[in-house]
Amino acid sequence: MERREGHVVVPTSVPPSEPARLVDDFTPLLLDVGEHQLCPGCGEPVAMRSALEAIAELDVIQRTIAVFGIGCYTAFSNNLDVEVLQALHGRAPSLATGAKRAKPNTVVFTVQGDGDMVNEGLQEVLHAAARGERITCIMLNNGVFGETGGHMTATTVLGQRTKNTLDGREAEAHGYPIMLSNLIAQLEGAAYVARGAVNNAGNVARTKRMLLRAFESQLAGEGFSFVEILTMCPTGWFIETQESPGYLAEHLGSVHTVGVLKDVALR
Ligand code: SF4
Repeated sequence: MERREGHVVVPTSVPPSEPARLVDDFTPLLLDVGEHQLCPGCGEPVAMRSALEAIAELDVIQRTIAVFGIGCYTAFSNNLDVEVLQALHGRAPSLATGAKRAKPNTVVFTVQGDGDMVNEGLQEVLHAAARGERITCIMLNNGVFGETGGHMTATTVLGQRTKNTLDGREAEAHGYPIMLSNLIAQLEGAAYVARGAVNNAGNVARTKRMLLRAFESQLAGEGFSFVEILTMCPTGWFIETQESPGYLAEHLGSVHTVGVLKDVALR
């Protein structure tokens, strides 16, 4: 056995002296593994739970790779019992592209917020969609940079409050929101595009069906699949927690409307 700097170095060029053996049954735990640090009333845990339930129902847990962007939801990288890669700001779709191309039999999905995906990495997701990459991208959209203090993002709707728009976004001063799902749906490589929300039980159930269909689309090799999920951020919106589901419906939901924008299976 070779020694380097006082440590035994295990050779990789020869097989191990003992074959590998299963020491215990492996039961994936997806939903209740440790704690996270997100605010009470945040919609991101509900969205993540819906995605994980969809993965569990499709029985693809052990061949799934998640790619996380940077945001409050990044805390969930410790709660998922699937492989997790951490991308730089905005770059999750490119990292996911590499993972999927290297391992075509895996189910690869990204999780990004609107700040990470639209402000910091818009070209990444647009090009991945245009190329028809067989990945699923999930955008958690609350119209605010929640993790870094509540600044406006490119998806903040007119009238929506954030830290630097306390009176609500104004078109003249701040421009208009980017409707990302609508842009992606126009691209030929996009096979499935939908926008859900988690502000009430009906929308949570609907969003779960969207996520299931997106993953099924990826498994069928149809092309790029995308699910935007409107989530509550009472902290970034500077409103009472209990007001946030209604605020989401009144402001974000009335502009970024919930529904399926594209499904190639229905053509
Ligand atoms: S700041 Fe907003 S998005 Fe971040 S954890 Fe709190 S409620 Fe959720």
